[in-house]
Amino acid sequence: MKRIIMITGASRGIGRAAALRLSEEGGCLFLSCAKNTAMLQETAVLCEKNGAETCTFTGDLADPSECVRMVRACEERFGIPDILINNAGISRVSLFQDSSPEDLRKILDANLCSMADLTRETVKGMLKKHSGRIINVSSVFGGTGASMEVEYSLTKGAVNAFTRSLAKELAPSGIAVNAIAPGAIDTDMNRNLSPEERAALEEEIPMGRFGTAGECAELIAFLTRAPLYLTGEIIGINGGWA
Ligand code: NAD
Repeated sequence: MKRIIMITGASRGIGRAAALRLSEEGGCLFLSCAKNTAMLQETAVLCEKNGAETCTFTGDLADPSECVRMVRACEERFGIPDILINNAGISRVSLFQDSSPEDLRKILDANLCSMADLTRETVKGMLKKHSGRIINVSSVFGGTGASMEVEYSLTKGAVNAFTRSLAKELAPSGIAVNAIAPGAIDTDMNRNLSPEERAALEEEIPMGRFGTAGECAELIAFLTRAPLYLTGEIIGINGGWA
């Protein structure tokens, strides 16, 4: 049986790496991104070369109706997803007192509400099959907090609580819910760092370097095949940083 896997934020970074890694196992990959359809298409082509079937979806998941549209599109093309990888997210660096209520709502919608809305819609199908796996991409900052990224940390702390709570609610239905919590990973999300800021950060990390999107993808791939009894866990991948 081919696994049906939905991956958000698959145009680049960790989402693209997860798609590429999982495509090595074949299966049906339903890939989404917010805007960059051309880059998402590139991911899809690479995945097909690896032997997976793919379908792409561009839409802003901060809009709940887009979440519903995405799940319907996946169900029509491939069927009810076996696995949902909630990876899409944005970051924002500023002092908390300098941010506006609109800034707060934007990041809550993008990182938290989108994940919850998409999961709710996906779970309806998984419950009918009495099986499924949900893997959320959180952040080390969801546990430790971070100066200058207070709102981002707030969203990821909430993702951790969402993961643990939903895992309890869905365990009787044969659905596992886990999260990965990456540290500093070498993707476009960190391109705004100056060389000096990057070097200072690397010095703080016991492994002395940023992680790669491929390393996160490897952990995600592991979770797609982990024992179902592993649920409600937030698994760090941070080079010993936290
Ligand atoms: P990235 O900026 O390279 O990619 C983000 C992806 O999310 C893109 O495909 C984008 O289209 C999608 N996306 C963003 N907002 C969206 C929306 N409203 N609707 C639909 N799609 C949307 O980022 P990345 O570094 O690959 O990050 C992926 C995940 O990993 C994020 O949740 C991020 O918070 C988390 N993370 C990243 C790091 C890091 O250091 N890069 C560390 C910890 C956690």
